[in-house]
Amino acid sequence: MKLSLGAMAEPGSTRVTKTGAWRTFVPQVDHEACIKCSLCEIYCPEACIHQVEGLFVPDLDYCKGCGVCANECPRNAIEMILEEK
Ligand code: SF4
Ligand code: SF4
Repeated sequence: MKLSLGAMAEPGSTRVTKTGAWRTFVPQVDHEACIKCSLCEIYCPEACIHQVEGLFVPDLDYCKGCGVCANECPRNAIEMILEEK
């Protein structure tokens, strides 16, 4: 199979090729509303949202701003906001 330059072949492959610069929207977590269910971490296609000192935080070096985490959050604790560049 021939792939175009820049194509991502496998889920999670952006772990080795930082893609944060592609992003337009950025997830903003309301830590007060978060119930620590881990669904955002489980569903993130880039595996880039993790607990840091008890809080769920996206790693913006790898977050592509897809909004899956916000869509799956049962408490609407994640809002996608336009990122200021
Ligand atoms: S927007 Fe959310 S689901 Fe999408 S890459 Fe970023 S942290 Fe992961
Ligand atoms: S999905 Fe929402 S409630 Fe669950 S850990 Fe993530 S931010 Fe918190």
